[in-house]
Amino acid sequence: MTGVVWLALDGVGHPQDAPTDSPWATDLPTLRPLLDAGLVLDATLGVEGLPQSATGQACWLTGQDAVRVMGGHFGPQPGPTLRALLDAESLPGRLARAGARVDLLNPYPPAYFAARDPAQGGRVHLAHGSFPHAFLHAGRPLNPPGLPSISPLLGLAFAEPHDATATPDDLRRLGEQVARAARDHDLLTADLWFSDALGHAGRDPTPPGLWRAARTYLQHLNALLEGLLHAGARVAISSDHGNFEDLHVKSHTVARVPFAASGLPLSLADGTAPATIVDGGRVLTRWFT
Ligand SMILES: [Zn+2]
Repeated sequence: MTGVVWLALDGVGHPQDAPTDSPWATDLPTLRPLLDAGLVLDATLGVEGLPQSATGQACWLTGQDAVRVMGGHFGPQPGPTLRALLDAESLPGRLARAGARVDLLNPYPPAYFAARDPAQGGRVHLAHGSFPHAFLHAGRPLNPPGLPSISPLLGLAFAEPHDATATPDDLRRLGEQVARAARDHDLLTADLWFSDALGHAGRDPTPPGLWRAARTYLQHLNALLEGLLHAGARVAISSDHGNFEDLHVKSHTVARVPFAASGLPLSLADGTAPATIVDGGRVLTRWFT
């Protein structure tokens, strides 16, 4: 059976918890039906404050309550406590130790490695995000050779006003390539953090260019998903916390988050539906056991 392609969105609250003028008010003929058929999960875990990426992603990666482990929401990068949790419990590590084929499809530019290389003026202890940390600890390289890469920019320029650098057709073709690669893998993951960066650019009044970029981002995600599904991939979409769905504010939000999948069951082992991102992480694990 073909592997799972996990699109891990960063900072995307569910449309149900978004303001009416959210970027979700965009025609997304493949993405929206999949999300609407999926689940709406709590990312606060009953803890005050705004959910953050390191703890949120550790919940997804481990199926453990990383917020409780940390004593609060924490991010964006995992520190020693969360790294230890990831090293012991993360899904890529557990799968790799069991002989499964797992990879992270993000492209990492030379500057990413230089920033962590003292010989190039970098800092050896500069932390990785939860996803690169988990895959490196699983023994997988960043920029895995022979695989297509999914840039978190999804065909937008990094610099404002984030003009499109690719077309929906480009994203569709990329989705088909990734689906083909998934036939030889158990898990292929993309850490799609640019949605959180767009969310942090939010302000009131929201600049028209930011609206346009956010809507294009979702349209490109929709096209990527179309390509994946057209070529027969099993796909999961998750998010660690809210932010992007409300472009009036620059901070994270307490919005619930989407968890959707095609060709994969969204229930826990006892048949109940997940309610939180910790449950969501447990469902991910279940698909491989
Ligand atoms: Zn953020």
